[in-house]
Amino acid sequence: MSAIDLGAFAAAIIQGEIEIIDLTHTLAPEFPTIVLPPEFGQSSPVRIETISRYDADGPAWYWNNITLGEHTGTHLDAPVHWVTGKDLPDNSVDTMPTRSMIAPACVVDCSAQAAADADFLLGVPALQAWEATHGTIAGGSWVLMRTDWSKRGPIAFANIGPDGPHTPGPDADAIRWLVEERGVLGFGTETIGTDAGQGGHFNPPYPAHHYLHGAGRYGLQCLANLDRLPPTGSLVVAAPLKIRRGSGSPLRVLGLVATR
Ligand code: MN
Repeated sequence: MSAIDLGAFAAAIIQGEIEIIDLTHTLAPEFPTIVLPPEFGQSSPVRIETISRYDADGPAWYWNNITLGEHTGTHLDAPVHWVTGKDLPDNSVDTMPTRSMIAPACVVDCSAQAAADADFLLGVPALQAWEATHGTIAGGSWVLMRTDWSKRGPIAFANIGPDGPHTPGPDADAIRWLVEERGVLGFGTETIGTDAGQGGHFNPPYPAHHYLHGAGRYGLQCLANLDRLPPTGSLVVAAPLKIRRGSGSPLRVLGLVATR
């Protein structure tokens, strides 16, 4: 008998003393896919094509073929996704350590700021203010930026203007501080990327991708229901598909929250 009581943990799930919150959007063709400037390659959107549905193509069974980019819907970014992480060991979704797939989460509520300013940037002072209330961000944690962006319809979610997308995210100092000073496992957002929509103009460009993946850390994006997680104390399960040399993967993200 182990000193760690997984039986009690399982019983708490069965009895509803641990709530399992779905932090995932439904994978569907209408969910916005990232669009890069036209000179770059583009991600396939999600396609779902029926093979058979209790019909001549399969009288007793229903199944689909699916086509999707690695970075569609709610998904994880692995270190190999960015050039800064390309030479790190175990940097793709098939080789990332399984212990990185379950981790505690710190949720930073930026919903009011994001509602007032689509280009809101989370900075170090706001993270330090969060810590003054909730305690120091523990190494190995996810930091999840709640913006309530997941509650928007597709057009307002992508929020693309003539000069590109306008969505909130971390500034360069904040993400570097989280990686270097706090040793976070990764950074998660409700928006279409871990970086702000205008992050290509930052220094360095796309700083969340640059610093996270250069340090072997992970990104989660297009998360949902972050308003249902407490600031601290939840456990996030995020296990990507085991795609050979995969740079990322759609996945089901679960938030475990104790109800008492
Ligand atoms: Mn991605």
